[in-house]
Amino acid sequence: MTDTDVVVIGAGLVGAAFALAASRIGFRVDLLSNAGPPMPPGPNPGRVYALSQGSRALLQSIGVWQRLDPARIQAVVGMRVSGDRPGAGIDLDALDGGVEALAWIVESDAVAWALAEQVATDDGITCRCRAHPVSLRIDAGAAHVALADGSSYRAALLVGADGRDSWVRTEVGIRVRGRNYAHQGVVANFTAERAHGGIARQWFRTDGVLALLPMPSKQVSMVWSAPDAVAADLMALDDGALCERVMGATGDCLGTLRLVTPPSCLPITLGHARQLVGPRLALVGDAAHNLHPLAGQGVNLGLRDVGALCRILGADVRREPGAVSVLRRYQRSRREDVATMIALTDGLQRLFSSRLPGIAWARNRGLDLVSRLPHLKGLLLQHALR
Ligand SMILES: Cc1cc2nc3c(=O)[nH]c(=O)nc-3n(C[C@H](O)[C@H](O)[C@H](O)COP(=O)(O)OP(=O)(O)OC[C@H]3O[C@@H](n4cnc5c(N)ncnc54)[C@H](O)[C@@H]3O)c2cc1C
Repeated sequence: MTDTDVVVIGAGLVGAAFALAASRIGFRVDLLSNAGPPMPPGPNPGRVYALSQGSRALLQSIGVWQRLDPARIQAVVGMRVSGDRPGAGIDLDALDGGVEALAWIVESDAVAWALAEQVATDDGITCRCRAHPVSLRIDAGAAHVALADGSSYRAALLVGADGRDSWVRTEVGIRVRGRNYAHQGVVANFTAERAHGGIARQWFRTDGVLALLPMPSKQVSMVWSAPDAVAADLMALDDGALCERVMGATGDCLGTLRLVTPPSCLPITLGHARQLVGPRLALVGDAAHNLHPLAGQGVNLGLRDVGALCRILGADVRREPGAVSVLRRYQRSRREDVATMIALTDGLQRLFSSRLPGIAWARNRGLDLVSRLPHLKGLLLQHALR
């Protein structure tokens, strides 16, 4: 049996970042992943994330941002959000916020690889791939985790970072509130004829929310969060027809599009764990909350969990990491941010998918109003930058 300070189950972006941040505080960390080791990013970009300033700062503080190839990072200097009536929309500019960028577009594979490289150099972390936990028992003194290969761990703190279908959360009986949107996120990358100028564009349409995120070399990454039937239509199109469909839906704003990475599709759900903590346990990332991707906030919210939990754990290292008071403080500290993000993404999703008379007028008028009120725009900017 391995005796350790912290066992982290799940080595996605959030779990691996937590392991690195916890090791910096001085804890011995065992990071368990049921997947194989990450591979270096290939020549063509796959999925991308829009990382906020706060996420970038956290990745810098754990030595990961520095490992990313700057040529494969795109700064977002502006955002254009359009309603479903011509002319309705909001423009946000990094200059208005007094910052160099509103966000940075990074490839998911590149971040996963940089995290894995950094974990490999960290003496405080032992990482195991293809580790399949089969049982979990928590008593007053420790969390006990047993793996399918017969090995086991005893830790002062267990961190569940195992994604939206979290095994940890199920094992300890924490229930989830939420709903299935019956939407899919269709993601694909294109090369655009015209320069995107570092602008992230988003359209709230009657057939879903469509975003084109800028990437280096005149490429853009599409996330089209569409009702199941529309998503199935999009997935059935051949390359040329998909380009035509996206060009039509975006008013040809970037000229001719050419497909670089074929479309893939992910279900979109809302899920929020009723508790983020239990005895000797904390949930982070999608295991704690998963959101509609329309605000591109999933990873950012997860990394803010990591920042909050590590700040609280680091504030008093003499205290055991699994102490109830420490875990309660973490839960309290995350309440407002998580609730705001859920209200924002779920509210916008409901508003723009409603077919009720008058709602279409009201939502477009709302976008126009926000765009004319500097104070409200400022609030939106502050949120985008967290
Ligand atoms: C279409 C779409 C677009 C998105 N775009 C953005 C964006 O632009 N910006 C953004 O911030 N977010 C975005 N998100 C959200 C983002 O993908 C998630 O929030 C993020 O991946 C969550 O990271 P995580 O590490 O918590 O979970 P995951 O990425 O799900 O990682 C969980 C890890 O745990 C492992 N695991 C699972 N079960 C076990 C087990 N039993 N034992 C051991 N290991 C286990 C898995 O192998 C995996 O490695 C998007 C989501 C969708 C659907």
